[in-house]
Amino acid sequence: MASLGAAVVVYPRVASATGGHDVGGAVTERPVRVLLASGDATGSPRQLDAWHFGWNGRTYRGTFTYVTLADGKRGLVNVVPLDAYLYGVLSAEVSPGWPHASQEAQAIVARTYALTKLRPSKPYDVVATESDQRYGGIESESVEGHAAVDATAGQIVSYNGAPANVAFSACCGGRTADSGDVWGSPRPYLRSVADPHCADTPDYRWQTNISYDSVQRALELARAGDLRDVQLKDVDPSGRPRFVNFVGSAATVQVASQAFRFGVGAAVVRSTYLRSVGNASGSLAVAGNGRGHGVGMCQWGARSMGASGATAAQIVAFYFPSTTVG
Ligand SMILES: [Zn+2]
Repeated sequence: MASLGAAVVVYPRVASATGGHDVGGAVTERPVRVLLASGDATGSPRQLDAWHFGWNGRTYRGTFTYVTLADGKRGLVNVVPLDAYLYGVLSAEVSPGWPHASQEAQAIVARTYALTKLRPSKPYDVVATESDQRYGGIESESVEGHAAVDATAGQIVSYNGAPANVAFSACCGGRTADSGDVWGSPRPYLRSVADPHCADTPDYRWQTNISYDSVQRALELARAGDLRDVQLKDVDPSGRPRFVNFVGSAATVQVASQAFRFGVGAAVVRSTYLRSVGNASGSLAVAGNGRGHGVGMCQWGARSMGASGATAAQIVAFYFPSTTVG
């Protein structure tokens, strides 16, 4: 990984990794407004020059502004041209050591994602975390990430002539999820596909033990009484159970799988592609597949496809059927 420090980057005429190719035109297109922090966490950003500012130990391209959020709090927003934003996203989302085609697929999908999130009537477009896309400013950039953004300049995932509402997650666990099952918004290009490419990657299968006390508190399961059994119910066509039933001495409490995941902690219960939840000695043994919501592109699968010689367009076509890259 060759991180670009602020000192070597001249903005807006960015020297790219491909030998000084000028992408100044590309990065001055549409600005994206990235929410960096809210409330007391907004700190004291400092404009360094016309094109950079420093905040919280990091350097960001573009300018900053304050906005008032829906909850009345103050928000710190980075206003940054689209492809300059993507420079700060690429290597925060995937390793610069990954195959070029996989990084280019990520660049195309990340650009499309950002375009579909532009909301002129709202105080910001995206947040700088995995709720949208991870974004870390210049300290997150790499030569390889720049190259992927530059090589795909202007390319997006289209469906019927419009930017597709793309999604991606770390690992689908062997089968992507249907957006209709996860978010209630089915789309022809976000249906479930069997993915052989992410098998045996780090997030493919996982298992964790969680104290039942903490689960009971997080999900308010006291009314179930003493826990007798945990059952996975109503499995969707992709293999993901929609509900987790806590069968207790007093009642059975049904919890939606997503509420179970986010209630306990999305980093602990890494997906809703649950295989089993066992109950023994006050502890739940939870086993599942993949990491993240599972809809759209599987990043680990895209990595394997790239390593096997697939192009970025082939990777995108596999995870978003009936779309085109253009
Ligand atoms: Zn996968």
